[in-house]
Amino acid sequence: MACEDCGRERSAGLCEACGHRRQVEVLIGEAGLLAATWSADLTDPVAVAAVAAAVRAAIEADIAAEWAEFQKITDPAALEAAGPDAVEDAAAHNAFLVAESAAAEYRHEALVMLGRSEDAQAEARQAYATELAKPWHQALPDSDDAQRAATEAAAKARPAPPSTCSPCGWSSCTPSPALSRSGPLRGRSACPSSPPARWTARPWR
Ligand SMILES: [Zn+2]
Repeated sequence: MACEDCGRERSAGLCEACGHRRQVEVLIGEAGLLAATWSADLTDPVAVAAVAAAVRAAIEADIAAEWAEFQKITDPAALEAAGPDAVEDAAAHNAFLVAESAAAEYRHEALVMLGRSEDAQAEARQAYATELAKPWHQALPDSDDAQRAATEAAAKARPAPPSTCSPCGWSSCTPSPALSRSGPLRGRSACPSSPPARWTARPWR
C-alpha cells in the first residue's frame, strides 16, 4: 500500500519518513504551546501564535543544523548508494530526534517555570499574612491601611519575573549580540547556552 502522505510504494499506508514528519509536527506544536505558557499572554491568540512561530523556527533551524552536520560526517558515496528513499528516511529520522530532544527541553523548562511561579506565590502569600499579623494591624486587619500594607509586602516579596531570551523564550539563555542583530526569529541553536541537540547515529539499512 502506498504512503498516504507522499505516495511512496509499499509503505503500509505511511512511509517511515512521513511517519517521522508527522511526529515532528506534533512535537513542534507541543513545544510551541509549552513555551507560550511562560512567555505569552495565553488569552492573546496573536501572542501565542507568535511564540509558536518562533519556537518552530528555532527547532527547524536546529533540525537543519543537525542535518548539515550529519551530511558533513557522512561519506557522500554512502549516501548516494543508499538511494533517495533512505536519505529521506534518514533526514526525517534526524528531524524527529532533534524535535523530540527539543520538546523534552521545553517540557523541562515549563516545569521549572511553574515551580518558580508557585514559589513566588507562596512567598507573596506568606509576606501578606506576616504583615497582617503585625500588632498594629491586628485591631483592624480589614482596614484599608492594613490591606494596603499587606498587599505592598506581598508585592515586594514577589521576585521580578525571570527574564527570557527573546529569540528562544529560554529563561537560561542570553542571546549573543550577533543573534540579537539578526532578528527575533533566529534559531535557538544560535543561542549560546541552550543545550546542543544530539545526533544519534542511525544504522544504514
Ligand atoms: Zn511518505
